Amino acid sequence: MDRFADRRFEAFFEGAEPVVSDARVAPDRDDPLSSPHFDALIPPLIRWIADARGRLLVRGESPHASTDPFPAIRSGYDWRRALDPVDRKALLQAATHSANPRPLRVRMMGADGERRWAGLRMTCVSTGRGGTRWYGTIEYLPDLQDEVCALREALAEAREHYRWSVELNPQVPWTARADGALEEIGPRLREMTGISLDPRSHLRWNDMLHPDDAVATMARWDDHVQSGEPIIVEQRVRLTDGGYRWMRSKAAVRRDARGEVIRWYGTLEDIHDQKVAQDALAESEGRFRLAVQAAGLGIWDFDIETGARTWSPELRAMLGLADDVPATQECAMALVHPDDRSILQNMMATVARREATTHFEATLRIHRADDGALRWIRSMGWTTQSAGGRPKRVLVTFQDVTDQEEADARIRWAAGHDAMTGLPNRAAWQATLEQMTARADETGERFGLMLFDIDDLKRTNDALGHDAGDALLCEFAARLLAMAPPGAVLGRLGGDEFGLIATSLRDSDALQAISAAILENIRRPYVHDGRSLDCGVSIGGAVYGEHGRQAGELFKSADLALYASKASGRGRVTLFHSDLRAQAQQHSSMIRMARQAVSDKLITPYYQPKVDLHSGQTVGFEALLRWHHPRLGVQTPATIAAAFENCELAVAMTDRMLDAIVRDVRRWIRAGFDPGRVAFNASAADFMDDDFAQAVLRRFARGGVSPRHFEIEVTETVFLGRGADNVARALHRFSKAGVRVALDDFGTGYASLSHLKQYPVDVLKIDRSFINHLEGDAGDAAIVDAIVKLGTSLSIEVIAEGVETQRQRELLIDHGCRFGQGYLLGYPAPFVSPPKTAT
Ligand code: C2E
Ligand code: CA
Ligand code: CA
Repeated sequence: MDRFADRRFEAFFEGAEPVVSDARVAPDRDDPLSSPHFDALIPPLIRWIADARGRLLVRGESPHASTDPFPAIRSGYDWRRALDPVDRKALLQAATHSANPRPLRVRMMGADGERRWAGLRMTCVSTGRGGTRWYGTIEYLPDLQDEVCALREALAEAREHYRWSVELNPQVPWTARADGALEEIGPRLREMTGISLDPRSHLRWNDMLHPDDAVATMARWDDHVQSGEPIIVEQRVRLTDGGYRWMRSKAAVRRDARGEVIRWYGTLEDIHDQKVAQDALAESEGRFRLAVQAAGLGIWDFDIETGARTWSPELRAMLGLADDVPATQECAMALVHPDDRSILQNMMATVARREATTHFEATLRIHRADDGALRWIRSMGWTTQSAGGRPKRVLVTFQDVTDQEEADARIRWAAGHDAMTGLPNRAAWQATLEQMTARADETGERFGLMLFDIDDLKRTNDALGHDAGDALLCEFAARLLAMAPPGAVLGRLGGDEFGLIATSLRDSDALQAISAAILENIRRPYVHDGRSLDCGVSIGGAVYGEHGRQAGELFKSADLALYASKASGRGRVTLFHSDLRAQAQQHSSMIRMARQAVSDKLITPYYQPKVDLHSGQTVGFEALLRWHHPRLGVQTPATIAAAFENCELAVAMTDRMLDAIVRDVRRWIRAGFDPGRVAFNASAADFMDDDFAQAVLRRFARGGVSPRHFEIEVTETVFLGRGADNVARALHRFSKAGVRVALDDFGTGYASLSHLKQYPVDVLKIDRSFINHLEGDAGDAAIVDAIVKLGTSLSIEVIAEGVETQRQRELLIDHGCRFGQGYLLGYPAPFVSPPKTAT
């Protein structure tokens, strides 16, 4: 657009106005104003006259002849040759068009061959003879010389300046005619677009737009023409290579006084890179938004520089907040669960610190604003930084993780709880016990531990089905929970075993008191499916500090106490005492010895005779277990009593005994000796195997001895134990096969007359304890009397155990008791063939 500068330059050449006319500068030397002093002031002025064709007829002298600047111009000389070709053309043109042309500034050849600036004035005057003469002056303009040089330099500088500013300016100017034909465009745009401004091409500026943008741009354009507002449009401009570049076009029309459009003025700014970046950003933002939506994230956005906070629509939906509720901290705080408010406060404090490294994660609970629902929200926040590393904004994402949290909670709960009763399971409860022990170690704070074992859960399960058993368990747990002291931790430790830990149980008295209350409460029968169920419980208790300091030791103490409760008849409470530990040690030593006795085949039967008290005749024997201790010699069952409660050992011992008994009886018979009935003792464990009776009978058959030679002795406890159902079946099988059934230790324990009806009982063995004090205790005598009468009326044989004195024998005879067994009548003794009987 150098033409803008060029105009300035051209104006300079045309701009000289006529200063003086020839007529007024009359050379009248008499006139003081014609003084030669003026000659020195005015520049050299040469007068000349030329003919109509411009040939120089005469020229005046320069006032300072010595310094004639144009000596080449002489009369007869075609002075036009002294002129610069451009000036010559201008001069000819001026002379052809007017008789009185405007003064001209021309370059003329000087004396030294240099061209010099001169002012040329002329006028055409008629000669009166039909011809014409040119009268003119040439004025030497030395100052102009410098001015031109300066202007030239200025122009060059201006051009450079212009070029630089235009080229560096992102905005490229353009103009277009009223009809839209491009008139001028910046060089950069020309280069880029390859547009030529050939007037014949009549290129309209919208010809260079992308077809998709042209229509919209034109519509805007028309609107603009109507309203007169400047227009700003972003559009793609076609390049020489056929591609397009994004440009921002600003344009306005200039109108004349009548309102007609004179010209369009505009700029095009290359915004391609910016636009591409913007599009990329918009696309990435779009992707981000989609990802955020897909992930169900809500966004809280805090612009640190402006302080603006925004909650995304997803976040509002998550919180149940309407769109018009302002995004304030107070509002957020009010929604958060009171227990989790400190978490939010910490988050806010982190944000307020405006650290460049802010990053946090937290999960908290809120109550939704609209429906009050409790939801778990996980939030993650971080700070973005400006290019200068200053924190710019804090972005926090929120996710409703309620479902996940609930699933986790369910899994966590299930891992630590018993599904049926909802109480902590063994592992969780024991972890609590460990924690409390550790804490007590530090603080010295005491606590109590109770273990519970539901009596006869098995019986309920077997008799009424597992639903009834489960209901019993749940009812037990509920009652225990209701009775438990505040802060107690309950747990279901397995099958029918429960535990309780409570800090309020500081000593044995507190434990005893609560146990008594629980026993009382649990004992109340409850109804399931229209049936009343009993629920007894055995309790063992221990106190931290008193009965142990380690979790394991404490548990063991309570467990020993529980075992003692169960062993002493159930429905009881036992607090740990040191004897229990001794007993426990004794118990395990018994088990150890029994195991050794079994494995080393040290077990052997001793036979104690059963005697007719009148005649003194042996009617049979009871086989009693003895085992041979390697150092201590023959041992009684009392040394391994615990083993009879141990299923595996009890069965093994019966097995060994029967082996020997069958062999011994066979030997007796083969030796021609009739031992009468030989009784063997069976324990509850033997009846666990439903095949017990058959197995024994097979054994007799294998040994070649008739079942009639045998009697089985059971105590009433076998009717109460786990294999109770089997017991009835087994006893009936024995009875049917000819084996007599004796009820041992009769009158103690759970003596129930219904047993006599229920089971095929042939013999009642009056327990030794009644015989012991028969002489002095009227009560015992009455019991013996009653048992004898009961036997007589039910046709059940009665035998007295533990007959030690003659007096006892006599009294028994008096009471009508026919048979007896005891040291008086014969000690248990090993097999001899045939055995001797003591009388
Ligand atoms: P039990 O069945 O009541 O056996 C009678 C116990 O009284 C025997 O003790 C016997 O030695 C003892 N006894 C007999 N006469 C007298 C007496 O006049 N005075 C005193 N003070 N005691 C007398 P033992 O042999 O020590 O057996 C104890 C218990 O061990 C038995 O009591 C029985 O319950 C159990 N037992 C013995 N052998 C076996 C067996 O082979 N299997 C099973 N399951 N239990 C057995
Ligand atoms: Ca017995
Ligand atoms: Ca007995």
